[in-house]
Amino acid sequence: MSFEQSLLQTAIAFNKACQIVLNYCFEHKVYNKNVLNKATYPQVRREIPNLPSALVQTARDEASEMLLRTDFAKIIKKRLSVRYDNRCFKFYPDSNNVSLTTVMGRLTFSFKHYNYMDTWKGEYTNAQLVIRRNKIFLNVQVKLPDVAIKTVGEVLGIDRGILNIAACSDNTFFSSNRLRDVKGRYQFLKRKLQHVGTRSAHRKLQVLSGRERRFVLNTNHCISKAIVNKPFDVFALEKLGISKKKKNGKQFNGKLGSWSYTELQRFIQYKAEAKSKRVVLVNPKYTSQRCSKCGFVHKQNRSGLGFRCGNCGFSLNADLNASRNIGVLGKSEYLRLFVNEPNVASGEASPTDVVDGSYKPMNSFIGS
Ligand SMILES: [Zn+2]
Repeated sequence: MSFEQSLLQTAIAFNKACQIVLNYCFEHKVYNKNVLNKATYPQVRREIPNLPSALVQTARDEASEMLLRTDFAKIIKKRLSVRYDNRCFKFYPDSNNVSLTTVMGRLTFSFKHYNYMDTWKGEYTNAQLVIRRNKIFLNVQVKLPDVAIKTVGEVLGIDRGILNIAACSDNTFFSSNRLRDVKGRYQFLKRKLQHVGTRSAHRKLQVLSGRERRFVLNTNHCISKAIVNKPFDVFALEKLGISKKKKNGKQFNGKLGSWSYTELQRFIQYKAEAKSKRVVLVNPKYTSQRCSKCGFVHKQNRSGLGFRCGNCGFSLNADLNASRNIGVLGKSEYLRLFVNEPNVASGEASPTDVVDGSYKPMNSFIGS
């Protein structure tokens, strides 16, 4: 068995194990990992004796989490992937080696080295082996050591929305025009294919979904990179929660569902931390109703794309106005959390999440 074969066989065995657990979850409507372990471990060991115990356990975790995401739909694991935790893989970027538990035992593989691997050094906590189009990839998660916190921060406020994926308080916009174009095209094609309903149409549909997903992923990478490269130390974003959804109604929810704002946030977070910069999350309440000049809050301040203050007459692009408010909130939160002085002035700001430590997905190309 060749090296690549051993990984392929491992992925096939892993998927099989995953499927046994998935079926059990579906039948018994449970996803608790302890319950699943007791219920399925013996069966998996019996039916797939060559799958190492550590991978049986990660297969169970994967199945449990897949089910959680889909609310107990009947799902079939098709994608060839294997989840590794710190017990079953060791990553050595300096020597371009990774050792992985496989159905053939523990094996060491070499991979192609990329420069970014030298930048992301820390504790390698998890990895996912993915086999796609006859190529083998390893996505490695890195827990970076805590970075030194800068004491004075220039804060950039970022507002996320439909027309602008991101509007920044330094008067820059990341428009969603192209994104909506492309997504619209995919939607049109998908609807057509769904209508056809044949098997080959279904296959094409899956290919399209994957392509669309990678397009969004790439867009998020580009935007987050451009944002953290700006000369600011702190990036303030709105906590995406209930109030934001309420404010923007149905239309926003639909778009939000298909566009991964949380992913964009995650990308900004880890890219920022790698540069010793910070991300603070602020409460979105009133950020689009408040005048960024005089602080007057009123529903009617905002109408559509524009903002006009009913108190001082200040007018501005609505997203830009919101981003400036987010910037101000972010600054007071940042001071409250990171500077060792109680900050009395931040009474108006709401509790904030601070993101510590960061995870960076790393794609290591193993072989073909
Ligand atoms: Zn005003």
